[in-house]
Amino acid sequence: MLKAYSYAASATDKPLGPFEINRRDVGPNDVRIDVLFCGVCHSDLHMARNEWGGTNYPVVPGHEIVGRVVEVGSDVTKFKAGDLAGVGCMVDSCRVCDACQEGLEQFCDGPDSFIQTYNSPDRKSGGVTYGGYSTAMVVDEAFVLRVPGNLELAAVAPLLCAGITTYSPLRHWKVQKGHKVGVVGLGGLGHMGVKIAAAMGAHVVLFTTSPGKIEDAKRLGAHEVVISKDPDQMAAHANSFDFILNTVAAPHDLDQFMTLLKRDGTMTLVGVPEHPHPSPSVMNMIFKRRSLAGSLIGGIAETQEMLDFCAEHGITSDIEMIRMDEINTAYERMLKSDVKYRFVIDMSTMSK
Ligand code: NAP
Ligand code: ZN
Ligand code: ZN
Repeated sequence: MLKAYSYAASATDKPLGPFEINRRDVGPNDVRIDVLFCGVCHSDLHMARNEWGGTNYPVVPGHEIVGRVVEVGSDVTKFKAGDLAGVGCMVDSCRVCDACQEGLEQFCDGPDSFIQTYNSPDRKSGGVTYGGYSTAMVVDEAFVLRVPGNLELAAVAPLLCAGITTYSPLRHWKVQKGHKVGVVGLGGLGHMGVKIAAAMGAHVVLFTTSPGKIEDAKRLGAHEVVISKDPDQMAAHANSFDFILNTVAAPHDLDQFMTLLKRDGTMTLVGVPEHPHPSPSVMNMIFKRRSLAGSLIGGIAETQEMLDFCAEHGITSDIEMIRMDEINTAYERMLKSDVKYRFVIDMSTMSK
């Protein structure tokens, strides 16, 4: 066992605080990673506060992890001590079901589904998995990503969730040069969606509720910015989008975006609000054969593909570095959409 230091939430209404954990000994297929940086995803907040139900306390969030490999098991082939490494939202899956065989581990049909980086049953060490708000991780190499060396390391961390969660649907719905693509919400996911869709050659329109983000959205790669609260601005884009990626973390009117899709267009939801959205109008969908869809992170192979795509295009997250003990303030700011555009914890600030 290896002692690691972490930050955990101990109850729905309690701030996160220091918590000592044990990591398992390195097994034949395991990689031990000293965590250098961990991004702060809105899912961490949903989970710490049990907004989706099913949180096991104490919970150590964090699934946007980059670090340095310090030890590898005897059968590990992909990594050696000293390498950079990344861990995202999954640390294991059944590996034999159809989804796993197709590289879609996030849709694993095994008995435990996929093992989330935190708050999943931990079959190897007992208890539940603990995430990346910690000084060390031990993860099977099959779920460890190679991190490109040419990108700023701290700004790579958010790619492990925000990056793949936006890349995967953009790929799945075959976004390409010439497509008109909307991104709803300029937060952690949204700002990655803008960068990646622009790099894929799409004409990108960012929808925001925050007029103060217009200039940033353009700098990040949006060709146009629409204030979604302004009906005239919205109406100007009716029936024109091939694809819309909706990253909003709160319930809202989906129809205002569905009506902007072309015939056969799709809006894919990746935001997971605590309470349901108002049910969308069927009329809006049937008359133009529009689709409303969802998407969950991305598989391991696709996550590696996304990291390599970002390396090739020089894409990283725009980050604000925080100390570990600033996490509770960061959560409050995230709730006010006051993030530019992802908090990343500098793990060297973890007090032992
Ligand atoms: P975030 O950084 O807080 O960004 C969410 C953005 O949504 C905000 O910046 C804001 O953008 C907009 N927004 C917030 N409240 C709103 C409201 N009431 N009405 C309209 N817009 C609002 O969060 P994130 O980390 O990007 O995560 C977004 C959501 O995706 C969360 O629910 C998270 O759990 C979920 N998620 C899903 C997956 C998946 O696999 N599907 C993976 C990761 C995260 P503007 O200021 O521009 O309006
Ligand atoms: Zn996440
Ligand atoms: Zn499986």
